[in-house]
Amino acid sequence: YRCIRLILGDQLNPQHSWFKDKNEHTLYVIAELHQETAYVQHHIQKVCAFFCAMQHFAQALSQAGHHVLHLTLDDTQAYSSLPELLTYLIDQYGASQFEYQLPDEYRLRRQLQAFTTELNVTSMYYETEHFYLNESAIKQEFTAGKHHRMEAFYRRIRKKFNILMNGNEPQGARWNFDANNRNKLKPQDFNAVPSPLLFENDVREILARLKRHSVKTIGKSQDFIGWPVTRAQAKQLVTFFCKQCLPRFGEYQDAMSCQIDNAFDKRQWSLFHSRLSFAMNAKMISPAYVVNAALAYYEQHKAKISLSQIEGFVRQIIGWREFVRGIYWANMPHYSQLNSLSATRKLPDFFWTGETQMNCLKHVIGQSLDEAYAHHIQRLMVTGNFCLLAGVDPDMVEQWYLGIYIDAIEWVEMPNTRGMSQFADGGIVGSKAYAASGNYVKNMSDYCSQCYYKVNQASGLNACPLNSLYWRFMDKNQQDFAKNPRNRVIYANWLKKSGEQRKEILAQAEDYILNIENL
Ligand code: FAD
Repeated sequence: YRCIRLILGDQLNPQHSWFKDKNEHTLYVIAELHQETAYVQHHIQKVCAFFCAMQHFAQALSQAGHHVLHLTLDDTQAYSSLPELLTYLIDQYGASQFEYQLPDEYRLRRQLQAFTTELNVTSMYYETEHFYLNESAIKQEFTAGKHHRMEAFYRRIRKKFNILMNGNEPQGARWNFDANNRNKLKPQDFNAVPSPLLFENDVREILARLKRHSVKTIGKSQDFIGWPVTRAQAKQLVTFFCKQCLPRFGEYQDAMSCQIDNAFDKRQWSLFHSRLSFAMNAKMISPAYVVNAALAYYEQHKAKISLSQIEGFVRQIIGWREFVRGIYWANMPHYSQLNSLSATRKLPDFFWTGETQMNCLKHVIGQSLDEAYAHHIQRLMVTGNFCLLAGVDPDMVEQWYLGIYIDAIEWVEMPNTRGMSQFADGGIVGSKAYAASGNYVKNMSDYCSQCYYKVNQASGLNACPLNSLYWRFMDKNQQDFAKNPRNRVIYANWLKKSGEQRKEILAQAEDYILNIENL
């Protein structure tokens, strides 16, 4: 082969221009790599889903007439890194050209850059052709260190791609329907919640491989995984989402429930969420495919789908997803070191087991270990909020998020975790820390009614830890946070409490911090 083209595990985009023409002289390489299983401890379903999707992609490419080399962990075990493997392959096949698509992760992009500068054959890179904004567009949109705002970015993207627009104005005369989208799920709504569409992808051979190579993983393993691993399955999931979830998506996007699990034997754990993040992040389908399918469905079903549902969904994909990518690339590698609140505490052990008496954490961590999935508000306002209030070291928080979720790839995980949820970037992603007391969890979920702790108390026996930790956090950061007008009412409420009350709450918080492993 004259040319070797590398396809990484999250570059499974069959629509890429690479595949338009068949070429006898090009060999596509898709490889299970030890370095990728080991840079963090991943959820076992995540490793299985990636490896299974890679295998299917390799098969689909060869069926389409391309030359493909699919390597398993058995085949690559002799090579300690990707460059070592590539050096061997280039030599073995006598290739005179090496080509790759730009990795979305800084770590891999640097690794391949370093590799190609040393290489004695010519090399070339391509864009992944996946996102709405290409490489040069994100460079124009984002500046290192700048406090960008998602809302302004989102509006520009809506206009640029003419999505839900009437000329220059947003449809419905509003850009944002978030205010309509904060409903709690009540038992009378449970029937309307669909069970997730689960596929039956056999990963037993992959599991055996992981065992054979002693790959350390976390989470519950399954012989048949429910995540989509082919473009056809991903498309099926999009159709399912449009029919079953989109009509209520916005309305309940922040809602959380453990009672629905109890009521229906754990069959409805993803509520009205799409579960499309893995398929998109592995690039089996593009964001434009998902958005266009949802828009087309909405257009045909306006009688049962309101604008606020579709707007809420589109915002996540053309807004947040593209936005965090821009933040990541503008600020790496500096971003990975940011710790603006100087948080240093160790992540409590119960994050790896779910064994805590705080029902919200127990439920969200348990579900994450079982399904490699939690929805946005569970990640942000339950696990993330707890770590923020407790001052957990953002490096440890990130290790957890980067490992446990099916969709966790650094470019999207890091700005969400370090930035949005831990405020460690000092406000590059969000204008204020997403800190909340137990009241937020009570308003958005049914977790509190079954909890050992009392959500209505900030101090005293079994008072909800989130309450005192919240006040401790706000008190500690008063000097900086009080400058933000959005925090004015909060500090006014804090100061309304008597000195004695404040002391008691802060003492309670210190007690919880001391006993954090036993909460
Ligand atoms: P839905 O609720 O159905 O939303 C549709 C799509 O919108 C998602 O598939 C996703 O592609 C996109 N989206 C929604 N919110 C965001 C967001 N904040 N940033 C980027 N894209 C978004 N998402 C990841 O893909 N990978 C991660 O590693 C990741 N880590 C996160 C860590 C934290 C602390 C937080 C708060 C959020 C994180 N998110 C991450 C964003 C979000 O939680 C997930 O994208 C979402 O829960 C995936 O489930 P879904 O496909 O059912 O999403």
